Amino acid sequence: MKVYRNFFSLWVFAAAIAFAVRLSAAPAAETEAPAGGLGPLAPAGEGNPAAGLTDGLTETPAPLAGESRESAKDGGEASVAHIREMRFFLTIPDVVDQGGTLPVLLRGATGLQAIEAQFSDASGKKIFSFSGFRVSGPGPGSAPGSEEGESSDEYWAALGGISSVQQPGVYDFALSLFFNEAQTLVVNRKIRVEKRTFVFENIPLNKAMSELRATPNARRDAEARELLALLSKSDTSAVYHTAAFCLPVAEGFRETSFFGDRRTFLYTDGKKASSIHYGIDYATPRGTAVYASGEGRVALAKDRVITGFSIVIEHLPGVYSLYYHLDRIDVEPGQRVRSGEKIGESGFTGLATGPHMHWELRVSGNAIEPKNLVKAPLIDTNELFGIIKKDKEPVETAAAN
Ligand SMILES: [Zn+2]
Repeated sequence: MKVYRNFFSLWVFAAAIAFAVRLSAAPAAETEAPAGGLGPLAPAGEGNPAAGLTDGLTETPAPLAGESRESAKDGGEASVAHIREMRFFLTIPDVVDQGGTLPVLLRGATGLQAIEAQFSDASGKKIFSFSGFRVSGPGPGSAPGSEEGESSDEYWAALGGISSVQQPGVYDFALSLFFNEAQTLVVNRKIRVEKRTFVFENIPLNKAMSELRATPNARRDAEARELLALLSKSDTSAVYHTAAFCLPVAEGFRETSFFGDRRTFLYTDGKKASSIHYGIDYATPRGTAVYASGEGRVALAKDRVITGFSIVIEHLPGVYSLYYHLDRIDVEPGQRVRSGEKIGESGFTGLATGPHMHWELRVSGNAIEPKNLVKAPLIDTNELFGIIKKDKEPVETAAAN
C-alpha cells in the first residue's frame, strides 16, 4: 500500500471563511494549500488569491452562497472573530493505490459541524463522496504510548475507498468543512491514483452455477439492490472501530482468490462473463469458525442467492466488512459484535465451487484491498498527533493579529 499523506496546517481567517463559496468555484490551483508545507497558509492579503473577493461572493450564484451571506448578515461577527484565531491540522494523501483507502484526518478546527469529501475527475464529475465523523485521540501533553497524560482530544476523520477499477491518473479532491453559523471552508487538493497489478483467472462453472448467474432471477436482483443501498449508507454516528482489523479466520488458511482478481466465468453453454473479485477467499473446510474483523454492528445477516449465508458488519460511517458462503450464521441484524468475536461458520452456500470463506471490505461504497486495513489502523490519530508535535508552531490556537 502506498499512501503518502500530505500534512498541512491551515490558519483560518475570517476572510477565508467568508469567501469559501468563491474559493470553491475558483480553479483548484488557486485554492490549494502549499504542498507539503508545514507552515501556516498565507493569510488572505496581498499575493493571496483569496484576497479581495468580496464582490465575487455576491456575484457567485453557487448553492452555498445564500448560506454564507446569511451568516454574514445574521451577526456572524462573534463566530468569525473566533474562527479568526483558529489554526487546525489536516492530513490528506497525495497518492493512493487502486483499491487503497483515502484517510483524511483533522484536529483543532473549533466549531466544525460536518465534513463532506468529494472525489471527482478532471472535468469535475463526482466519482464518489464520503462524510467525516468525530473520533477521539491523543490530546495536548499526551504522547502516544506514554504513561502520563491520558487526556484525549477530539479529531475529525473521513475514510474513502478507491475502486480497483479506478483508472490511474490525477483526480480532484474537495474537502468541505462546515462550521457554526453556516460558514463553509473548502480545501481543494489533487490526488494521484497509482496502478497496481491484479490476477487474471478463468473460472469454469457447472450447469447449476452457470444458470444461477446467467438466468433472470428477481430475488437475486432485489438482493443486489438491497446490498448496494446498504453499502452506500453512511451513518456519521456509527463509529465503532478505528484500530487495525483482525483476520476473519484463524491464520494458516490458504488464500485461493485475491482482492481485485479479474475473472472470466466460463458457462456450460460456451458463453463467458467477466467479473471482478471484490474480496479474499480463504480455503476453509466447512464448519471453520468465522470472526468479526472488527467491532461493529451487524447490518445484514441472511441467506442470499449468490453469496449464500451472508453477514455484513458496519464498523465506521460507510465502512463495512462482508462474509459470504457461510454454513451457519450466529448473529442477528442490529447486534453489536466485538473484534474477533465468532459470528458464524464457513461453508459453500450460494454460488461457490467449493468450501471457502469470502471476506470483503467496502469503504464509501467501493471494495478495497482488505489487507491494507489489517496492517494499519483504519484511523490513525497517533500519526497526526506525532506530526503536530514535531511542528514548530504552537499546536493550540494562536492569535492571528
Ligand atoms: Zn470470493
